Amino acid sequence: QAKADGRNLFRFFDPQMQKLLGERLALESDLKQALAGRQFEIYLQPQLASDRRVTGAEVLLRWHHPERGLVYPGYFITAAEHTGAIHDIGVWVFEQACLLLTKWAGGAITRALTLAVNVSARQFRQADFVDRVRRLLQQTGANPKLIKLELTESLALDSVDETVAKMLALRELGLAIALDDFGTGQSSLAYLKRLPLNELKIDQSFVRDITTDQNDAVLVQTIIGMAQNLNLEVVAEGVETEQQLDFLVKHGCPAYQGFFFSEPVPVTEFERKFAA
Ligand code: C2E
Ligand code: MG
Ligand code: MG
Ligand code: MG
Repeated sequence: QAKADGRNLFRFFDPQMQKLLGERLALESDLKQALAGRQFEIYLQPQLASDRRVTGAEVLLRWHHPERGLVYPGYFITAAEHTGAIHDIGVWVFEQACLLLTKWAGGAITRALTLAVNVSARQFRQADFVDRVRRLLQQTGANPKLIKLELTESLALDSVDETVAKMLALRELGLAIALDDFGTGQSSLAYLKRLPLNELKIDQSFVRDITTDQNDAVLVQTIIGMAQNLNLEVVAEGVETEQQLDFLVKHGCPAYQGFFFSEPVPVTEFERKFAA
């Protein structure tokens, strides 16, 4: 009887699903080789002040897959979180950012540009996360004042006290903390108020229709006002047009990033174009 049921189940397991599962397993297994195989590269997307001066960049990970070519994080970060590979990958990204800052401080560029590094919830939750950050700062000699960590609201699933304690420890080290994709999560303002943040990043989904959708326009203005009142910096993500930028500047948004100014680019290209 059980065998018969098993066969039936197997028959219902549709080939499309099987294909997806197979792809996912292949992806997870490829990810294990990726770091050792030096297949990752960091790209930089400039962040600007409202006067269009470049103040720094967000570090965005790219994967040069041996067969698939250039792969974006939307495709592999979830898998990396699932297998735990994200821990080593995250350390690698942070280290690359530190090394770059050290190189820049050594005279490669004359301005002090900041780097914003994404940290996934699973990475942040790891017990020794703060220790690893501290060690990498010591090893590389990077100036922590030039580093921002971008965290997401999904941290709200965790204990607030623990989250706050970790954030404070990171700030103690000199790092700034930004809340990424702000407005897309489930967390309440009461919760957010307790977090020792430096910056809110307005999610690109709100910026997209800012000039055509009255609701989005009001929402973005509200977030800008709220950030000002809470003494937080605010950065608008996903600015693609001059009209969007005009709206943001007009409503007091002090910083932005987006395709309007530049896509994420390889480090050498960033240095050549924006850091001279
Ligand atoms: P995010 O941190 O919200 O990064 C912004 C994403 O929006 C980036 O996608 C960027 O290329 C894209 N973007 C920037 N400007 C525009 C624009 O004007 N229009 C549109 N449509 N998109 C724009 P990307 O590089 O594919 O990264 C996707 C997400 O993957 C990131 O979202 C972040 O959550 C995650 N991620 C990227 N690098 C890392 C990393 O090193 N570690 C971790 N844990 N996550 C990362
Ligand atoms: Mg980000
Ligand atoms: Mg974002
Ligand atoms: Mg995002």
